[in-house]
Amino acid sequence: GIDGEVTADMVDEIARKHFPMCMRSLHETLRADRHLKHAGRLQFTLFLKAMGVSVEEAIVFWRKGYGQSMTDDKFNKEYKYNIRHSYGLEGKRADYPAMNCQRIITQNGPGPGETHGCPFCHHSIDNLTSSLTSVYRITAQADLMEIQRAVKDGFYHVACTRVFEITHAERGVKKGEGLGAGESVAHPNKYVARSRELEKA
Ligand code: SF4
Repeated sequence: GIDGEVTADMVDEIARKHFPMCMRSLHETLRADRHLKHAGRLQFTLFLKAMGVSVEEAIVFWRKGYGQSMTDDKFNKEYKYNIRHSYGLEGKRADYPAMNCQRIITQNGPGPGETHGCPFCHHSIDNLTSSLTSVYRITAQADLMEIQRAVKDGFYHVACTRVFEITHAERGVKKGEGLGAGESVAHPNKYVARSRELEKA
C-alpha cells in the first residue's frame, strides 16, 4: 500500500471513496450476500493484498465478511487456506500478483450469481449505467453517453479512465489527464493508489 498496512476495518471507507468499479462491485456483493463465488474471491483477495492488506487482516476481513453465513469450522478448513494460498503461504507458495485489467477483462466472464470481471466489459449497458448514476453519482448525460460510447467500441479502460476523471474532478483532475500525465487505467491497484494519493495531496 502507499501508506503501509491497510486494516480490515479500513476497507469499507477506502472502497466507498477509491475503488474502481470492478472491486466496488465485488465488495458490495460481499456485503449484500455475505458471500462471493470463487473467481470473485480470487480477484478481490489479490487486489486487497496488493493494496496493503496483510494476510492476518485479510483473514479478519473475510471472516467478518461471511459473518454468520458460515461456521468457524468451515471458514478455517476451506477459506482460510485459500486466503493463505493467495498470499503464497500454502501449496506451491507462489507469489500471485494482483490481476491487471487485461487479465480481468479476458478471464472467463461472470456466470449467474457471479460478480467478478470488469463491469465495463461484462455488465449490460443498462446495469452499468445504473451503477454509474447510483454508485458513482455520474448524472450528466454528456458524461454518460461518452462512457457508453467507449464501452460499445470495446475501449473498457477508456471508459474506466473517464469515470476516474469525472469522479476526481473535485480533486483537480481534468479530462484527458487520467491517472496522471494522460495515463489510462490498466490496473485496478493503480486506480486505487492514485485515488488515495490525490486525497492526501
Ligand atoms: Fe476494473 Fe480495470 Fe475494468 Fe476499471 S477497467 S473496472 S480497473 S478491470
